[in-house]
Amino acid sequence: MDISNMQPANFIESIIIEDLKSDKHGGRVVTRFPPEPNGYLHIGHAKSICLNFGLAEKFNGTCHLRFDDTDPAKEELEYVEAIKRDVKWLGFDWGDKLYHAADYFEQLYDYAIELIEKGLAYVDDLSAEEIREYRGTLTEPGKNSPYRERSIEENLDLFKRMRAGEFPDGSRVLRAKIDMTSPNMNMRDPVLYRIKRMHHHRTGDDWCIYPMYDFTHPISDALEGITHSICTLEFEDHRPLYDWVLENVSVPCRPQQIEFARLNLSYTITSKRRLLRLVELGYVTGWDDPRLATIAGIRRRGYTPEAVRDLCERVGVAKNNSLVDMAMLEHCVRDDLNKRAPRAMAVLRPLRVVIENYPEDKVEELEAVNNPEDASMGSRKVPLSRVIYIEQEDFMEDPPRRYRRLAPGREVRLRYGYVIKCEDVIKDENGQVVELRCTYDPDTLGGSTPDGRKVRGIVHWVSARHAVKAEVRLYDRLFTIENPADAEDYVSYVNPNSLEVLKDCMLEPSLAQAAPGSFYQFERQGYFCVDTVDSKPDSLVFNRIVALRDTWAKIQQRQG
Ligand code: ATP
Ligand code: MG
Repeated sequence: MDISNMQPANFIESIIIEDLKSDKHGGRVVTRFPPEPNGYLHIGHAKSICLNFGLAEKFNGTCHLRFDDTDPAKEELEYVEAIKRDVKWLGFDWGDKLYHAADYFEQLYDYAIELIEKGLAYVDDLSAEEIREYRGTLTEPGKNSPYRERSIEENLDLFKRMRAGEFPDGSRVLRAKIDMTSPNMNMRDPVLYRIKRMHHHRTGDDWCIYPMYDFTHPISDALEGITHSICTLEFEDHRPLYDWVLENVSVPCRPQQIEFARLNLSYTITSKRRLLRLVELGYVTGWDDPRLATIAGIRRRGYTPEAVRDLCERVGVAKNNSLVDMAMLEHCVRDDLNKRAPRAMAVLRPLRVVIENYPEDKVEELEAVNNPEDASMGSRKVPLSRVIYIEQEDFMEDPPRRYRRLAPGREVRLRYGYVIKCEDVIKDENGQVVELRCTYDPDTLGGSTPDGRKVRGIVHWVSARHAVKAEVRLYDRLFTIENPADAEDYVSYVNPNSLEVLKDCMLEPSLAQAAPGSFYQFERQGYFCVDTVDSKPDSLVFNRIVALRDTWAKIQQRQG
């Protein structure tokens, strides 16, 4: 790595390159991704993961995975496992650098004692409500607690007895002694420890006092030798406290906190608390519902880690918050799958077509390319027989003049096959079209017509006799408004039509063995993937990942 010629891709890389040049951290780059295990990760976390692990890769450093598990109330083992799975899926590896803030409880306690001994922390008997009142407001300074001037001895005694379980929950807290008149509310004697009798998934019932985030985080960073502690903008106002803690306890090193803008995506929610509510209220089927922007949901939907990383790369690292268009993520996945997804024919809403002049027992194996973008993916055989299915929307009884698909008396080409002509329309007693009677022109294989007549429309189809029946799930945006995060009553904007289930789709036979998680482009319909939860060998279920029409590319062209 030659840093003298390195071009920073963003302001954080600039800081790191400067630090490497000045040897600030002895040439080390150590970052961390510190999720709180109180829910599943979402696309916003993916941004933080790509950034932290990406920086470590780029600068020959390391990135730690640290569970910020100091709040026993909200944390569960299920979330810990899900988070590990998601980070791995995105393509990152923490190696042996797996940490838990809870493992530092003993050291954190010792640092709290150190602060008390220095006269920089005190035990406060005010109630939570009183503490709020005393804190003041943005325009008014706070007031000192009447317990603020306790002696060091008394504070040491009380804090030790807090730990020993002598006082009821919520009766006392340990606070930093900083400045109740600071313009920064975070510096008005923040609470460092509270009493909370609660089982912790890692430390069991060992503790009845738990440290707060603002105390735990800087010390955890320092204990792990983190050089650059990257977090989102809402922590900017906490940075003076982060630095205060590190200045006043005898930790082995001095990490630097750097803030960047959160990733927010339009038409979706990126907040664990709000996601949890959608799950609990049953608006979705679970944390991995393919409509959610959780990593588990995105994965189940069929989005690839490559596409997610591409999105994070394109969005870049900024200093001001913005809303990223969902269409951009969709563009990234199309871009990735276009190159890699095998093509297949699938009829989602079947209309039966009988080719009257096609022999009853005849079956032809027609050659179909697997991916026009990549010849190395080869080709496959698709069977044609007398009865086929086409898409209902590829037929119109009374079409406009420029309609290119099938209509009475008109011709259309079957993809990879012959030209057919609609001779007759069969309806049921309600007047619904239930079947078309067609004829085919045997001289039209291979894309030409013997008399040079033009047949512009091409439709996909599936041989009825060979078809594999499947369920297909089509998804739309989960919310009807662009920025549901802004709406307090966001659940009332859940799109009631975000899921459409089609039960009787007809797929070409090559898809019979499609493995869970494998993805395809269904011609003219979009990219689809076999559902990893509900699909079974004898009853396939596909999710539509994304339709083919690329609105993002269009927007880019217009702005071009
Ligand atoms: P949430 O509001 O969803 O609970 P959080 O910030 O509380 O998010 P943490 O588990 O504390 O969730 O986050 C772990 C890391 O991921 C933190 O460094 C946080 O800054 C980062 N992060 C969380 N949300 C986003 C986002 N939308 N964009 C970028 N980074 C994020
Ligand atoms: Mg949080």
